Amino acid sequence: MADTRQIIIVGSGAAGLTAAIYAARANTSPLLFEGRQPGGQLTITTEVENYPGFAEAILGPDLMLRMRAQALRFGTEIITEEVESVNLKVKPIEVVANGTRYTTHSLIIATGAEAKLLGLPSEAKLMGHGVSACATCDGFFFKNQRVAVVGGGDTAMEEANFLTKFASEVKVVHRREELRASKIMQDRAFANPKISFIWDSEVEEVLGGKEGKVTGIRLLNLKTGTRTEHELEGLFIGIGHRPNTKLFEGQLDLTPTGYIRTVTGTLTGVPGVFAAGDVQDSVYRQAITAAGSGCMAALDAERYLEELRHPHHALPPAVTSR
Ligand code: NAP
Repeated sequence: MADTRQIIIVGSGAAGLTAAIYAARANTSPLLFEGRQPGGQLTITTEVENYPGFAEAILGPDLMLRMRAQALRFGTEIITEEVESVNLKVKPIEVVANGTRYTTHSLIIATGAEAKLLGLPSEAKLMGHGVSACATCDGFFFKNQRVAVVGGGDTAMEEANFLTKFASEVKVVHRREELRASKIMQDRAFANPKISFIWDSEVEEVLGGKEGKVTGIRLLNLKTGTRTEHELEGLFIGIGHRPNTKLFEGQLDLTPTGYIRTVTGTLTGVPGVFAAGDVQDSVYRQAITAAGSGCMAALDAERYLEELRHPHHALPPAVTSR
């Protein structure tokens, strides 16, 4: 077995790579497992216009390649494997990937979350070409265009309201006749003159034109069996997110919706284990907030390692309070 690492990072989105940049610059020689689809959610977006520092916008995949190069530049070791299991109950912590067992004094979990999708072939084909799962990321591209939002929860209401800043009209398509969203979000959506509702309906197909862009949707009314087609330019899937926390079930405190619970920044309930980015954030979910919390996790891990080396040193409250 190789030597015990100082820091292992799981995940290669904005949180994981930022943690790696900070950890590598602090001479902790981090090892990062990037998974088999490296780069996280930004690799499935097109232009990123709200990441500070890129006044002319940058393509999501390009931004992630730059972050990866920056992490490598300072000595991060990157392994393109999925982590199969972790044991957080032992010290050092154990991580198994591709049948190999690694040990580490600290672990940064940055496995992210993924937007739930409908699972239609036409949805996959038109993703990034009119279909999106993030209004904050892509709403701006639909100025004066017609869009629909699928879902009846807070995410869908938030997306619908946000999209009315740009779109000429927003249709909310919900599979029941009652919203799941909180009262305040419902009231806001009902009061917005640009938002209309189509009840008891599911999207049967996303329609695309010759140019490979969304031209409309075909809906099936689940009560009447009637099919209708609606012309529009954008379809936003707002049916929720799924954090990638399966590996940690039973070992870390998770919220009812599966997110890792963190306190005072990125600390989990297990000393030496930190969580950053969307895996612990169901609220903000932005590239820049993920990057910010990746930085925090690396700083928290460094302080933890320092405490292991020099147990009697005074430490900032975040660590000493545990
Ligand atoms: P959610 O509450 O689980 O709602 C998901 C919605 O999508 C539901 O209306 C559900 O329909 C629908 N849906 C799920 N799968 C579907 C499918 N395959 N096809 C069609 N529709 C489908 O998820 P969320 O809206 O992301 O909210 C998650 C949590 O985050 C909640 O606790 C929420 O309050 C919180 N949140 C808060 C805010 C805020 O306060 N600003 C914003 C976003 C999220 P059914 O209703 O029929 O199940």
